[in-house]
Amino acid sequence: MEKTKIGKRFIGKVALVTASTQGIGFAIAERIGLEGASVVISSRKQNNVDEAVDKLKAQGIEALGIVCHVSNEQQRKNLIYKTVQKYGKIDVVVSNAAANPSIEPILQTQESVLDKLWEINVKASILLLKEAAPHLKKGSSVILISSIAAFQPQAAMTMYGVTKTALLGLTKALADGMAPDTRVNCVAPGIVPTNFASYITRTPDVRKALEEKTLLNRLGTTEDMAAAVAFLASDDASYITGETLVVAGGMPSRL
Ligand code: NAP
Repeated sequence: MEKTKIGKRFIGKVALVTASTQGIGFAIAERIGLEGASVVISSRKQNNVDEAVDKLKAQGIEALGIVCHVSNEQQRKNLIYKTVQKYGKIDVVVSNAAANPSIEPILQTQESVLDKLWEINVKASILLLKEAAPHLKKGSSVILISSIAAFQPQAAMTMYGVTKTALLGLTKALADGMAPDTRVNCVAPGIVPTNFASYITRTPDVRKALEEKTLLNRLGTTEDMAAAVAFLASDDASYITGETLVVAGGMPSRL
């Protein structure tokens, strides 16, 4: 969508997006920021945070950047503390960080890798929301970022897929646990050519095969994902909670 045609559903809101200095997380922060929110972005590296904040501010977006590796307890606490210190509240949390450190078949995956996948892809979301929960008031919203791989774990990312399947269940559990004040939903992106997915999208033949797996004959864009997240986070979705929205151009997922 052209930036000039974007609505203003988040005026006066504060949105925190993890792993948001590039790719899908950055596009989510940008979209919600263009719709009027103050956005808090974060990732592991200070220079990435600084560059992303500059890009958002250049578009007139109110943005705060904080270093936060999602599996670092102190940095998670600091992220929530600084957000509330500056803006006084949190309306939207998007838990977007994930790792896919291994392409081993599942039974060959080292225990340390299994632990890392669980810790970053699942546990960190729960622990971050534990910190954020006291500040999430009536009408707030949480979005978890899963994956099309949640529905059918692919070779080369099997355990990653399993952690993304866990997020579908976690969405239901959190929706129940955080109701009625906070809605919790999930977006399951299809294939989006970001750095994260470059190991599968950079080879032209593989990319073409992936495009052909969609009904729309193209891969997703970070803006496609951001639009879906913004919808679920907004009051347009005020009667939706505990749901997963697949944004994958019709790639096979579930009925
Ligand atoms: P990306 O473009 O590679 O961006 C990753 C971002 O995360 C960067 O800003 C990076 O910055 C930050 N980051 C990485 N590890 C982090 C950590 N431990 N703690 C905090 N920040 C961290 O990735 P993406 O494709 O947008 O992926 C975002 C989400 O979408 C992930 O949950 C992924 O599983 C999901 N997803 C992606 C696709 C796809 O095809 N791209 C498909 C389905 C689902 P620093 O290096 O500075 O930390």
